[in-house]
Amino acid sequence: MKSAQYNKKIIDDIEAVCKKRNVKLTNQRKIVLEIMLKSATAMSAYDLLDLLKEQEPQAKPPTIYRALEFLLEQGFIHKVESSNSYILCPHFSHPNHVSILFICDTCKQILEKHNNEIENHLELLAKQNQFTIKHSIIEIHGTCATCHNLNH
Ligand SMILES: [Zn+2]
Ligand SMILES: [Zn+2]
Repeated sequence: MKSAQYNKKIIDDIEAVCKKRNVKLTNQRKIVLEIMLKSATAMSAYDLLDLLKEQEPQAKPPTIYRALEFLLEQGFIHKVESSNSYILCPHFSHPNHVSILFICDTCKQILEKHNNEIENHLELLAKQNQFTIKHSIIEIHGTCATCHNLNH
């Protein structure tokens, strides 16, 4: 489990990035980030809304979608299309990275990895096809080490 201090540092780092980009990390957006930081797994918009309501009772679905849209745009979170959920990105200071997600179908834990070789290969492949990459997420499904060991 990540410590509260570690979480605070991430929020501080994200705030610094926002300041540099001249965008505002509103209180609601910050609460959404904090909820995601505390969660060990990916969360759906409705899971997030339920928890946001504990602190902001007036929050409605558009509130959460607007916050998520901002966080996605800024590259602080990723949307996991195959499970329709959201995770925090640990590489938010490098907005152009290829996000490689290892998704455990048993416990739903998602591990995000980063690999320069894969990035270079994708870039090359895109170039060969005159394709300009905007963002890329590779979603890989399987079993994490903990779940694998439990079953063997
Ligand atoms: Zn990422
Ligand atoms: Zn697992």
